[in-house]
Amino acid sequence: MKRHIGTLGALGAALTVGAAVTMAAAQIGAQAPAPPSIIPPDSTRLVVLGTGTPNPDPERHGTSLAIVRNGKSYLVDAGVGLVRRANRMAEGGVPALGPTELRIVFLTHLHSDHTLGLPDLILTPWVLEREVPLEVYGPPGTRAMVEHILAAYDADIRNRIDGLQPANETGYKVNVHEIVPGEVFNDGNMRVTAIAVPHGDWKVAFGYRFDAADRSIVVSGDTRPSEDLVKACNGCDLLAHEVISEWGLSRRTADWQRYHRDAHTTTVQLAELGMRAAPKLLLLYHQLYSGTDDAGLLAELRAAGFTRPLQSARDLAIY
Ligand SMILES: [Zn+2]
Ligand SMILES: [Zn+2]
Repeated sequence: MKRHIGTLGALGAALTVGAAVTMAAAQIGAQAPAPPSIIPPDSTRLVVLGTGTPNPDPERHGTSLAIVRNGKSYLVDAGVGLVRRANRMAEGGVPALGPTELRIVFLTHLHSDHTLGLPDLILTPWVLEREVPLEVYGPPGTRAMVEHILAAYDADIRNRIDGLQPANETGYKVNVHEIVPGEVFNDGNMRVTAIAVPHGDWKVAFGYRFDAADRSIVVSGDTRPSEDLVKACNGCDLLAHEVISEWGLSRRTADWQRYHRDAHTTTVQLAELGMRAAPKLLLLYHQLYSGTDDAGLLAELRAAGFTRPLQSARDLAIY
């Protein structure tokens, strides 16, 4: 049962952006030489690789975002399908998302819907001749997860290195950085700050703020309402925030309501905190529709008093 109330204007804008990018990818095709980047120099963009949740919606791949600037990509989370989604964008004019350019990922937390793509991100670019180790930033437990992934694929790694297949001995390796809140990365092109967020029973989960000369982008990760995120944004250019439909949640069983209200942020809560965070654009992602749709989520935020620019993210769109 879908519910539509309010205006479709903001959704229309999001669809236009997504459609343009998808068309560019189709026209250029897989075999064409690498095109120049459609992202201008010194400009920071958020590329949505996947907005998905554990629900296996074929239109929405696992949760992964990419911040792209000056030919470098900085991934947030590693959901199912991210290397293929990233390559789709590389073919469509974002060469920073080509397989061998996927070099840095910031994990928000270790839930499977945010990490099922991590073996893919470690191994696939290496098979395609990425020579540098992957840099993985994340909460405590990240190192153990990476070590277990490498152990699970040890036979594959040995087979490729010891057999006839040309393979380097560095690109499958991983440098793990188990981080605490605060500035965690700065390469001169992008500065990254980790923000502790409350997400159910997780002891540590992060949102991230990305600062470049031209733009500031805050990504919530999975979180219930967080004052630290409001402060971290504080008029930022773009706040990408997870969301669950209050309308849909109120129709679920008491045990699921209890879990989701401890772990996630409802449309009504996001409207209130979003007004105080005051981003130039609030972008909904990792949407838990619970029976509604993008238009329904946007309408719920509007009805709850959010009056600033607002869109609902689509896979393969650029913001
Ligand atoms: Zn989670
Ligand atoms: Zn999640």
